[in-house]
Amino acid sequence: MARIIAVANQKGGVGKTTTAVNLAAALAAAKRRVLLVDLDPQGNATMASGVDKHAARPNGCAVLLEEATVADAVVATEGHYDVLPGNGDLTAAELKLMDTLAREHRLKEQLATVAGRYDTILIDCPPSLNLLTLNALTAADGVLIPVQCEYFALEGLSSLLETVKAVRQRLNPKLEIEGLLRTMYDVRNNLGNEVSAQLTTHFGDKVLRSIIPRNVRLAEAPSHGQPIHLYDRSSRGAIAYIGLAGEVIRRERGLPPAPVEATDPA
Ligand code: ADP
Ligand code: MG
Repeated sequence: MARIIAVANQKGGVGKTTTAVNLAAALAAAKRRVLLVDLDPQGNATMASGVDKHAARPNGCAVLLEEATVADAVVATEGHYDVLPGNGDLTAAELKLMDTLAREHRLKEQLATVAGRYDTILIDCPPSLNLLTLNALTAADGVLIPVQCEYFALEGLSSLLETVKAVRQRLNPKLEIEGLLRTMYDVRNNLGNEVSAQLTTHFGDKVLRSIIPRNVRLAEAPSHGQPIHLYDRSSRGAIAYIGLAGEVIRRERGLPPAPVEATDPA
């Protein structure tokens, strides 16, 4: 049975899509069977995976409206994971869903039809706490929250965590916090260290060990329609996402995080 992880934060530009795409590819490189669901009408995860969002039909919209099955809509990618493509049609799907019964459960029901085919299903959420995001949180076992190491990073986190709590109470009792992921971390910048320390103070072991550095190769890869390990496998960004995949796999197996490299006692 697939484990479902929603990548969510209602703030835009924090690294959700970059994380969803590159974690999908890194897990696939570790021989996991992975499905990436693009639930953002911007369709960035679809394009970044090398799939043309304009031509993608049927897509996530048809699946949410039960006009197509997930199996019919998924597309295989060069990164060895499948994508359920998303584009502007998702906005129409969201509006139509508003009037349906059990509207928050539609994605969960649809993903259940392919749960045996994948080890991990990642969902790239839109930058808002709308019905699409609620569908993702209702379907998910865990929510992975990218946090940009910049000023105002913590802003909005409390409303996201309130939403997670409400979803757990009303829609999906099994929803866990997979972790807060520090993204766009810049070692040369004190601010990154400050934000990182603040996060650890507030959220303790909910903060993942893996840190994603600011790395220009990560920003370039989407315009080539490639995940980072295909675009530049030796970049710091690629290595960081391989590390994150390892951490996610260890969590899944109930293992403690990998030990930090032993330092020379002398
Ligand atoms: P979101 O999905 O949360 O809106 P994105 O993943 O699209 O955020 O990232 C926002 C922008 O920042 C994109 O242009 C992306 O290429 C860039 N970006 C994301 N992560 C990094 C990183 N670690 N280093 C450099 N640029 C990044
Ligand atoms: Mg995005």
